[in-house]
Amino acid sequence: MSRVYNFSAGPSMLPEEVLKKAQSEMLDYNGSGQSVMEMSHRSKVYDSIIKNCEALLRETLQIPDNYKVLFLQGGASTQFSAVPLNLLSNSGKADYIVSGQFSKKAASEAKRYGDIKIAASSEDRCFSYIPKLKKEDFRSDADYVHICFNNTIFGTTYNYIPDTGNIPLVADMSSYLLSAPVEISKFGLIYAGAQKNCGPAGLTIVIVRDDLIGKEKDITPVMLNYKTQADNDSMYNTPPCYAIYIHMLVLEWIKNTIGGLENMQKINIKKASALYDFIDSSELFKATADKEDRSLMNVCFITGNPDLDKKFCTEAEANGFVNIKGHRSVGGMRASIYNAMPEEGIEKLIVFMKEFERNNKNV
Ligand SMILES: *Cc1c(COP(=O)(O)O)cnc(C)c1O
Repeated sequence: MSRVYNFSAGPSMLPEEVLKKAQSEMLDYNGSGQSVMEMSHRSKVYDSIIKNCEALLRETLQIPDNYKVLFLQGGASTQFSAVPLNLLSNSGKADYIVSGQFSKKAASEAKRYGDIKIAASSEDRCFSYIPKLKKEDFRSDADYVHICFNNTIFGTTYNYIPDTGNIPLVADMSSYLLSAPVEISKFGLIYAGAQKNCGPAGLTIVIVRDDLIGKEKDITPVMLNYKTQADNDSMYNTPPCYAIYIHMLVLEWIKNTIGGLENMQKINIKKASALYDFIDSSELFKATADKEDRSLMNVCFITGNPDLDKKFCTEAEANGFVNIKGHRSVGGMRASIYNAMPEEGIEKLIVFMKEFERNNKNV
């Protein structure tokens, strides 16, 4: 068996240890005589999985007691609708920061339900930076402010938490959650599709402050209503059982093998710095995001020659570095280096890039 280095933006690599554990428990989970995929979500044995998963997530992120954790389906994109349906409860106004394609989609979906203002955008420079926000940029009566914390497609990330005063801050953390510690209390609501750092596709994690639950619009579909989900401990209907189980194994890996989120962040900084340092010193490759806003998770770069970019992606693939092509909307290259990408994967990629540079410098 030979495993490739998978630089996909999502679904993405999972820790090998997690996959092996899942494999070893595939036919018989913990003496139950069943796979986790087969068991009733109302069974005692499954109850211990979902409860343990939530407890581990709370411990890992140090989630305060006045926040609910919801394990939902529908991906981060479903939250583009759920957030306005549940939170546009007073003035019906919300302010969105557009820093990439996902926040743009989130804002346009929210416009169906209320008075949405784009408080800032970085579209003028192809989303290569994060707008600097001040409290005065937001409408004081807004029901919430929405940001996308790490822009998966353009490779930028917030290096600060915007000050919104009393207005709840909502963050799409799909490609950020579990890559580093987060000060949860600075946010009203955080959501994330699991398929970047947390587990397989099919699970969406929502962390929401108690006081924001129960104010939904009448038209809110029952499945998108945070109150329904909170009152039923994410079990109003069948939850994404297997994805939750893998998420639990990922959390165990972060705790026991990595040693917690501080260590995870240190490793992620080390991996991303190695790659950015090489790109900055290269005569061929150039990073596309502003230095101060660079993402540790998604490293976007180009050669400046689209044909050469294409050649790079093809040769990379042939050498076991797969899915390194940039998003179809921006081109170039994107190395998504989430938690599960081993340091060795980055080291080998840099060696490969050096060689490609030597061979193609004068093209
Ligand atoms: C991947 C991603 C999404 C879309 O997630 P789905 O689960 O496919 O809906 C939204 N926002 C961000 C920041 C992402 O990285």
